Amino acid sequence: MEIVNLFGWEIKEKIERGEISEKEVFDAFYERASSSSLNTFITLAEGREEKKEGKLRGIPFGIKDNILVRGMKNTCGSKILHDFIAPYDATCIERLKKEGGVILGKTNMDEFAMGSSNEYSAFGPVKNPFDPERVPGGSSGGSAAAVANLEVPIALGSDTGGSVRQPAAFCGVFGLKPTYGRISRYGLVAFASSLDQIGIIARTVKDIALTLEVIAGYDPMDSTSSPEGVPPYSKIIEEPCGYKTLGVPEELISGCDEEILNAFQRTLEILQRLGHKIVRITLPHAKYYLPTYEIIAMAEASSNLARYDGVRYGLRVEGESAEEIIEKTRMRGFGPEVKRRIMVGTYVLSKGYREEYYGKAQRVRTIIKEELEEALREVDFIITPTAPFLPFKLGERKEDPIKMYLSDVFTVFANLAGLPAISIPGGRINGLPWGFQVTGRAWDEENLLTFAYHLEREGGWSLRQ
Ligand code: GLN
Repeated sequence: MEIVNLFGWEIKEKIERGEISEKEVFDAFYERASSSSLNTFITLAEGREEKKEGKLRGIPFGIKDNILVRGMKNTCGSKILHDFIAPYDATCIERLKKEGGVILGKTNMDEFAMGSSNEYSAFGPVKNPFDPERVPGGSSGGSAAAVANLEVPIALGSDTGGSVRQPAAFCGVFGLKPTYGRISRYGLVAFASSLDQIGIIARTVKDIALTLEVIAGYDPMDSTSSPEGVPPYSKIIEEPCGYKTLGVPEELISGCDEEILNAFQRTLEILQRLGHKIVRITLPHAKYYLPTYEIIAMAEASSNLARYDGVRYGLRVEGESAEEIIEKTRMRGFGPEVKRRIMVGTYVLSKGYREEYYGKAQRVRTIIKEELEEALREVDFIITPTAPFLPFKLGERKEDPIKMYLSDVFTVFANLAGLPAISIPGGRINGLPWGFQVTGRAWDEENLLTFAYHLEREGGWSLRQ
């Protein structure tokens, strides 16, 4: 088997057995990534760090370009940070490196992780590996397309409202967003801090489990990271899974495209045949998930992005006064989607409207969280498609933000409630990948990954090529 076809954990084992060298592995993926026509990477590593023992020994990683890797450019897909060099490693990167993981490069993304198609990158869109005229999803589209195209076995992304899961579904690979607080956000450039979480994309659940086990856990540099213990996921997933009860929220998925609904229906039948139980659940506030997410995400974004002022770092456009420098820098540095969100976010936080929009959204968020937690007391998991439609054509939704935001209808609730969720590749519809999403109880990645691992092996969802 060619090196680029190997899973991450297989690479590590082969290196340990002396069957392949770290250099051979790095060169094989480097060659594949640097000759890619999909525009997956913004920056490729200049060299390989010296070899280290560890759980991830010699495994190359693609890192979304909003997660800091010391000494490498960190653009966030934006002109405003086009030449910003990261002065330190994000905690997850430090942990990857310590276990022998190798950074292959920084992956393309929608500007500041705002988007669902990668078309809002200042570095050009990423293309879907299954059809170059279509989008790979977003905002971690570079990470998902790179994994699907065998340019890297595992990639990190960030997920604020679906940005790991939706591109994973569009590119036919696995994508996990862990529980809020599971992975330190130190060194992840903030979009909406109460929703942001680092996620993992790979072609097998085992690689996700292995990576999570290394990068998860308390970090004094992020006060929202949890002291909750981190189990050895890569071992646990191999234990028997048992039969699970999965809840289907009918009112949430009813607006989905028919081809996706049909494929989803067939998936539910397979799950039943494997012995799992499918039940209907009611989520009465489902229609408020997306608007609540949008208000909160945009409010937090407008506040987080205030730091790009042309004074401290990144792009600086000169002017006569401080105001002029700030205005011109932001005008030229930010793209249209980012500007749109800063404006809406500023509006919902402005005097006189704050209570009506932001305050209300916060209260609705609490209701949403409670209704999901209640549902998850009755069922083990909530299951939906990951996205309501197939990968769309480049340009199809770019000019229509509302159509673009619809990509997120099934994914935002996990962020609003802080729950772990995984997108599992469902197969192909007309040659294009689609995925379904399984959401679990907070801190229960253990059961979620075990379930996904068993499905991958028994349900015909293996991506072994
Ligand atoms: N697509 C969503 C948005 O545009 C989610 C983005 C994300 O998760 N970073 O806000």
